Amino acid sequence: MSFAFDPLAIPSLPIHGSDQRFPVHRIYAIGRNYAAHAKEMGAQTVSRANPVFFTKPADALVPEGGNVPYPTATHDFHHEVEMVVALAKGGRDIDAAHALDCVFGYGVGLDLTRRDLQAAMKAKGLPWDVAKGFDHSAPVSALRAARETGHPTHARLSLAINGEVRQDTDIADMLFPVPEIIAELSKLFELKPGDLIFTGTPAGVGPLARGDRFRAELKGIAMLEGRIV
Ligand code: MN
Repeated sequence: MSFAFDPLAIPSLPIHGSDQRFPVHRIYAIGRNYAAHAKEMGAQTVSRANPVFFTKPADALVPEGGNVPYPTATHDFHHEVEMVVALAKGGRDIDAAHALDCVFGYGVGLDLTRRDLQAAMKAKGLPWDVAKGFDHSAPVSALRAARETGHPTHARLSLAINGEVRQDTDIADMLFPVPEIIAELSKLFELKPGDLIFTGTPAGVGPLARGDRFRAELKGIAMLEGRIV
């Protein structure tokens, strides 16, 4: 068997303390997972009834940050700092009680968003792909293996732009904690080794401009730095 042309390289992330890289299969994300952010986005009520999921292409990944191009077709390009969960095992209908067995490790990422396009799509009830799944929309740090850190339930998650803290929370404030995100997502998709899950952003989202420097941190676990170019 041969391909008609060379397939593109598999997107991947470095792993702290290892020469091996983590091969990325899909990138999932949950929306409205911190009450204060859901409110700043205009949600009248914040409920755990219906988790909101969307995806980004695996090759939207920007490993370890660095230079991130300002995207086309937007005048309101937003940062959303998020803890990122990396899966080493998958499955369907995974029980929350066993969901952490699937986790390889953790990182920190930016769910970059064309906010103006997202608002327009929301208003018309249209899909969010052009607002969320564009090229270079998923900068993610090197991963830290769970065998080193355990599975964090409390950790400071923060983002500074040009040295000024814009987003600052504790992951303990997530409406759906990691085991429940994995359980809910696996009702909709068969999860696979290599999947990444963005776990939602806290309050304080805002615009980025060319030249802005970002520094995202999941305290004690991961750090991501770069610049909008
Ligand atoms: Mn997000």
